[in-house]
Amino acid sequence: MMVAVMLNEEHVSYDGGCQCSAVRFRGTGTPKWTAHCHCKDCRKSSAAPFTTYASFANENFQWIGAAPAVYASSLNVTRRFCGNCGTSMSYESDRWAGETHIFVATLDDPEALPPRLHAYVVDQLSWVRTDDGLRRYHQTVAEGGPLPK
Ligand SMILES: [Zn+2]
Ligand SMILES: [Zn+2]
Repeated sequence: MMVAVMLNEEHVSYDGGCQCSAVRFRGTGTPKWTAHCHCKDCRKSSAAPFTTYASFANENFQWIGAAPAVYASSLNVTRRFCGNCGTSMSYESDRWAGETHIFVATLDDPEALPPRLHAYVVDQLSWVRTDDGLRRYHQTVAEGGPLPK
């Protein structure tokens, strides 16, 4: 009997890791969202003017290799990083329960998950100029917006 082979989106995987490759991860399927975040906490944590996230449901995400170190950056927020090389690895919060937000810049192929919007432009640095046509939100989509361009 012929059985059709369905190409299931769950078979798509997004692999990445830290600078020294001790910590690796794999997300599968389609991320819930991708976004730039300009907030102050992310700026500090990523040591960059802003950073770019992809959110995976925890059931579609796994750590591989060394377990990342943990830092509670604020109440109910867990940030993970490589204990060897210090690369920021993830953000988790009670506000987004059941999700792991990884840094697109740590993917082996960052081109695979382009950002779809800007969050927390209230904190955007004045010398950061973006002309990418993406929607811009004062905070997150949940707090309303997007802002007029
Ligand atoms: Zn590392
Ligand atoms: Zn942020």
